[in-house]
Amino acid sequence: MAANEIPSAGYSSQLLNRVQVAEGTMVFHFEKPSHFDFKPGQSADVTLPDPPETDAEGNTRTFSIASSPFENQLMFTTRLRDTAFKRSLKKVPLGTEVKIGPAMGSFTLHKNSAKLAVFLAGGIGITPFLSIVRQADHDRLPHKLHLFYSNRRPEDTAFLETLQMLEKSNPNFHLICTMTEMPQSQKEWKGETGLINKEMLSRHLFALQGPVYYSAGPPAMVAGISKMLIAAGVDEDDIRTEDFAGY
Ligand SMILES: Cc1cc2nc3c(=O)[nH]c(=O)nc-3n(C[C@H](O)[C@H](O)[C@H](O)COP(=O)(O)OP(=O)(O)OC[C@H]3O[C@@H](n4cnc5c(N)ncnc54)[C@H](O)[C@@H]3O)c2cc1C
Repeated sequence: MAANEIPSAGYSSQLLNRVQVAEGTMVFHFEKPSHFDFKPGQSADVTLPDPPETDAEGNTRTFSIASSPFENQLMFTTRLRDTAFKRSLKKVPLGTEVKIGPAMGSFTLHKNSAKLAVFLAGGIGITPFLSIVRQADHDRLPHKLHLFYSNRRPEDTAFLETLQMLEKSNPNFHLICTMTEMPQSQKEWKGETGLINKEMLSRHLFALQGPVYYSAGPPAMVAGISKMLIAAGVDEDDIRTEDFAGY
């Protein structure tokens, strides 16, 4: 196959590993097919060609690529809801063949490093940002990045330690995690609590107008954040969104 040719049925890959990274949340590592190119923040379709069970939703799901291009494996992360696709992904043996579609989407970091990037992640919506932030750290990008990351509890917060380490290694990266249901948590939490709102953004940002905002997660959260930003006077051209349809 020529280097720039995309196989019509998707790239062949295999499941290499799976690791729980938060309550009900699992990372899946796949072999990275040769010639598979992507930009941090893009997504791809993952297909189980021969799953142990299936249902009306079919054998394919779209996932953001949670790994970064500099890494030699592809990583996807999902909340393990009780659907045929996810039960299958959780139980098929390591080495199982999957098909991975070409990288899609334009939810990628802007070029102008003079403009602050503000990432707003709800739960599993962290996946494109993990890819962007890790690649930015690897490439020593000059962009200033603020990540607001909302979860119900620390127990549900995937990649919390990884992100805290990235904040230490990259002086351009600032992490603001917030928990919305601490009374249900068994863990201690000293950071922000409550939903991401204008008041929280104002406490951490020099000005609300100016940055490029990116929000990803369940559609209801992404819509709510866009509405809040527009009401706060943010230019619609500076708001980019990725709906995780299906949540
Ligand atoms: C660009 C893009 C990127 C995405 N990236 C990611 C990602 O990185 N990680 C990720 O996990 N997902 C991601 N998604 C969403 C993903 O494609 C699936 O839609 C999602 O994971 C749900 O799949 P499922 O098998 O759990 O539900 P499906 O079987 O697809 O069912 C979808 C519908 O059934 C209902 N449903 C099913 N199970 C439940 C339940 N337990 N509780 C309530 N309602 C339920 C929901 O109403 C939902 O609308 C992305 C989507 C897009 C479009």
